[in-house]
Amino acid sequence: MMMATTVEAETKSDFRAETRAWLEANCPPGARDLSQAPENSFWGGRHPVYPSADQKLWFERMAARGWTVPDWPVEYGGGGLDKTQSAILAQEVKRIKAASPLQSLGIWMLGPALLKFGTEEQKRKYLPEIAQGKIRWAQGYSEPGAGSDLASVQTRGEDKGDHFLINGSKIWTSSGDKCDMIFALIRTEPDAPKHLGISFLLIDMDQPGVTTHPIKLISGSAHFTATFFDDVITAKENIVGTRGRGWDVAKYLLGHERQMIGSSLSNSTVEPLDAMARRVLGEEGLKREAGLRQAIAQHLIETWTMDIAVERMRDMGQARQMSAFTPNVLKLLGTELNYRRSELAMSLGGVDHLVEGSPPAYNWLQAPPNCIAGGSNEVQLNIIAKRALELPEA
Ligand SMILES: Cc1cc2nc3c(=O)[nH]c(=O)nc-3n(C[C@H](O)[C@H](O)[C@H](O)COP(=O)(O)OP(=O)(O)OC[C@H]3O[C@@H](n4cnc5c(N)ncnc54)[C@H](O)[C@@H]3O)c2cc1C
Repeated sequence: MMMATTVEAETKSDFRAETRAWLEANCPPGARDLSQAPENSFWGGRHPVYPSADQKLWFERMAARGWTVPDWPVEYGGGGLDKTQSAILAQEVKRIKAASPLQSLGIWMLGPALLKFGTEEQKRKYLPEIAQGKIRWAQGYSEPGAGSDLASVQTRGEDKGDHFLINGSKIWTSSGDKCDMIFALIRTEPDAPKHLGISFLLIDMDQPGVTTHPIKLISGSAHFTATFFDDVITAKENIVGTRGRGWDVAKYLLGHERQMIGSSLSNSTVEPLDAMARRVLGEEGLKREAGLRQAIAQHLIETWTMDIAVERMRDMGQARQMSAFTPNVLKLLGTELNYRRSELAMSLGGVDHLVEGSPPAYNWLQAPPNCIAGGSNEVQLNIIAKRALELPEA
């Protein structure tokens, strides 16, 4: 047993040393130390837009090793790393403050759903494309009458033999106007009970009948679209999972979305609050602000606790012991922690932080929507209360 543990530790430290050396040699300076603002992100797609030459190089080098999706199997375009190696890679990437090489709903959401529910053909077709950033995916869940009550979706898919004819609309489609394909919840069995009449379909957005209308936000920007389907076609082979049982796929995917939102925010690459406070107020100024010091200390403790919780979740996932409700808890805690952090950062920097595109301003504007995306935090509380804790309804 001792021997095995020693060998395991040595293997881990070899992997860490090799990974560290490779990252140092291959991550160009222009792909490090970037804020999370959208203009610094690479999203792939049929018409890729690289934020910089360095980020293009960084993406290409990581994709060549399968390290855009390090823990996916090699035969589907992944890096074939185990969970421990993936965690080490993530730590080393964070250590050198490297940007994510590829942002992608395909990686965070659709890929895991395909790995679990996809046919072998679907996996071989779509997963390598996701890993290589060839397709930019949109999420077609929400509708004007189906947000928190997601199973009420009404966009319908009529059975036309070898394909479905799709009519209806989706809303809050993130970057819908920039995406190539959409994974969507479509009502294919209109007479079945609402949770049993939905199919999970993959639809090409580059076809007649798909239109996207940008939704302008109070800030003036338009990250979302309303997405309309008028006699849009998708082949039956594009159903993921069983026809009419898309709700199972949808829920599984939401678990990954929530986990991703909760854990990525806790690992945020933004400047630590204590460093920011010293920079803005100076050492002497900070000494005079007892209340602020306490709030920052409290926040740092909570962030540290959250990082440990995320680490623990990874270990439990690896041991297949993760509770089905872990993603709900992570999403709730991660987004609320981030919300408090962004408020503190703004109170520190005041109006100077409102410079559009600056990391604190971006984070401050993004923190409340993160509490809604992937299912609002009120809904997460309901799920935890009712299903995890089995509390009685009021
Ligand atoms: C940044 C962001 C990105 C998004 N991207 C996408 C995307 O790409 N694709 C997509 O399909 N959707 C997307 N959404 C939509 C998101 O999934 C929905 O906004 C969310 O599920 C809430 O639905 P709703 O907006 O219809 O609000 P509603 O369901 O109308 O809820 C309104 C308010 O009522 C509360 N509420 C509702 N029901 C209950 C209840 N039972 N108990 C307690 N409170 C309740 C909610 O918490 C919320 O505060 C995105 C949203 C955001 C903010």
